[in-house]
Amino acid sequence: MPAQRSSPAATAAVVLTLFSWARLSEQAPANGSTWSYLECKVSLPSLAFPGPEGEKMWPKRYPFCGGQFQSPIDFHEDILQYDSSLLPIEVEGYNVSSLEQFILINNGHSVKMSLSPTMHVRNLRNKFSAAQLHLHWGNQNKLEGSEHTVGGKHFAAELHIVHYNSDLYLDMDSAADKSDGLAVLGILIQVGRFNPSYEKLFNHLQNVKYKDQETYISGFNIQELLPDRLDEYYRYEGSLTTPPCYPSVLWTVFRNPVYISREQLMALQTALYCTQLDDPAPIEMVDNFRKVQEFERMVFVSFQQGFVESIVLASSLVAVVVLVLTFWLIRRTTRSRRTKEDKGIIYKPAISKEEENTSTA
Ligand SMILES: [Zn+2]
Repeated sequence: MPAQRSSPAATAAVVLTLFSWARLSEQAPANGSTWSYLECKVSLPSLAFPGPEGEKMWPKRYPFCGGQFQSPIDFHEDILQYDSSLLPIEVEGYNVSSLEQFILINNGHSVKMSLSPTMHVRNLRNKFSAAQLHLHWGNQNKLEGSEHTVGGKHFAAELHIVHYNSDLYLDMDSAADKSDGLAVLGILIQVGRFNPSYEKLFNHLQNVKYKDQETYISGFNIQELLPDRLDEYYRYEGSLTTPPCYPSVLWTVFRNPVYISREQLMALQTALYCTQLDDPAPIEMVDNFRKVQEFERMVFVSFQQGFVESIVLASSLVAVVVLVLTFWLIRRTTRSRRTKEDKGIIYKPAISKEEENTSTA
């Protein structure tokens, strides 16, 4: 499908503003193209190019990637703790007019859409303004492309909406390396029904197939990309999942996934390349998710349902075991009593009438 181009006269000023948003929202360092996911390294002819490096090599150049509080992580029961003070997430200014334009860019690692700082997340400790959103995904042979996992289980893909602390910092660049600098909303994506809202992004993938290509997308309600329930989420303090991996992110990963169709997922998995248009050795952009990191601290959750269900399930199992044991004991006692009673009976041998008569004669 062709790209929706802006009307130059009407939106020139907006486009200029958007270019500045794009610059603000860059989270990679000056030479951000010097890292990659493993897939890109494997695919590169190593003799011809020094090449980007797989994620195991990230700490060499970006020390924070080998440091503490790294993301993504696995959410498993042992580290989850209910926190009643976690309020439902509220977003403000997410419903962007169709007269405005977003810039969509292939940055060589993902497809990224610049967002307006007039978009905010509320109910966090500070005011956080939107900078950009981007996606992580796997490849067409598997449904595992999310960065965060739940109980060791991957989802098909994951959307990140990146915000910076606009109470304390001027822009994304100055906030990115501060411990209280960023807040990211993580949306887990699963295969299901066709999703018309995500199609507003996926429609344009063919226009940004190669690294550094850009296109424009008409504004729409970005909240449509979020799950319905904004009150159930995982909360923890972690890091950027790409170099330079600053431990500066207040993570909110929603508990409930959003659904896209298998065809939509495949479009995401197959449309893009890490390399530029004229690269003689094009590399598909697949598996652009970081592996889960070790995490020693607690993750706070805003919901109790899972725990209540676990307790109910455990209680039911205990009740069943007790019932079975009781039944078994009753049967055992009854049998034992019968055996004892049986031992007390003296059986007389049966004697025929004739024998009886004979004997009495
Ligand atoms: Zn991300």
